[in-house]
Amino acid sequence: MRSVDKLRVSVTDRCNLRCMYCMPETGIALKPKNEILSFREIERAVRITARRGVTKVRLTGGEPLVRKGIERLIEALSSIEEINDLALTTNGILLKETARPLKQAGLDRVTISMDTLDPEKYRFITKRPGLEKVLSGIEAARNAGLEPVKINVVALRGINDDEAVAFAAWAAENDLEARFIELMPISRQPAACREAPGSPVLSDELKQAIEEKMGKLDPLVTSKSSPARVYALPRGSGKIGFISPISKPFCAGCTRLRLTADGKLRPCLASPEEIDLKGPMRSGAGDRTLLEIVDRAIEAKSHISGAMHFDRGNRTMCEIGG
Ligand code: SAM
Ligand code: SF4
Repeated sequence: MRSVDKLRVSVTDRCNLRCMYCMPETGIALKPKNEILSFREIERAVRITARRGVTKVRLTGGEPLVRKGIERLIEALSSIEEINDLALTTNGILLKETARPLKQAGLDRVTISMDTLDPEKYRFITKRPGLEKVLSGIEAARNAGLEPVKINVVALRGINDDEAVAFAAWAAENDLEARFIELMPISRQPAACREAPGSPVLSDELKQAIEEKMGKLDPLVTSKSSPARVYALPRGSGKIGFISPISKPFCAGCTRLRLTADGKLRPCLASPEEIDLKGPMRSGAGDRTLLEIVDRAIEAKSHISGAMHFDRGNRTMCEIGG
């Protein structure tokens, strides 16, 4: 059976942005609050998965920082003995105010999503203003010691695919790791990204553009289960990473489980298969039953390898937890 050491927890399906590839601007059917896992339920789920090998937890969403009292959850999770890495993925809009309390609560590090360095493009991609807030959030995260800070950039044809070199220069200057992600066709929308049609921007295109301007990128050693290929930049101490679910799928080495905001265990991001954990928890199941459910999810994962077969299904990335 595949071993699993990472759990991604979507703490909410709500978000304060509307990124064009992730969340439709209107017509989103948000789950009623009582269908979303409580902090106690999330903590129990993490404790159960920890007994099956999970040591690294990432909180995501939706936007995790719009969930009220998230520090309380972080405090509870950071006290679980087996968990040695507690991270959070955020759009960074609320990070300036929250970075310090998050660190104090026990958060280790953050990944911040920022798809462009241009304020107008930012508004176009996310349908909200806010690039300045994200940049302040990045600074606050570093000052608070939520390091290493990593930046996620989803590559969008005709929108930000001309910014590879600018991001590389910015990463070098600011001593950060920027990671380009190939756009995945996960969405209820008719096209994953209607405003950026055409083939997805592949990592090699971006890497080539950076190497042409800045010189050869030196590969760095990363853990076998990491989806990112990371390179040292020729100047400064910044890094550039590529997450390539389309051109270089990483399913065979994936050791990650997901817990959706409404309490389903999801063995694979690309597949619609989900195993309910919330129902049994709410109807009084004991730990042994919950462990059996986690085992079923891990077992389901063992059959996944090769290319990612995306099923657009009926879930957005916000619900699943990207
Ligand atoms: N709201 C937080 C944020 O934006 O960082 C956390 C949730 S978001 C779903 C997590 C990550 O998934 C972000 O870096 C986002 O850019 C990425 N993402 C969302 N939809 C995607 C897609 N269709 N393809 C590739 N990455 C995607
Ligand atoms: Fe919100 Fe993150 Fe999705 Fe953007 S990518 S809409 S910030 S959940």
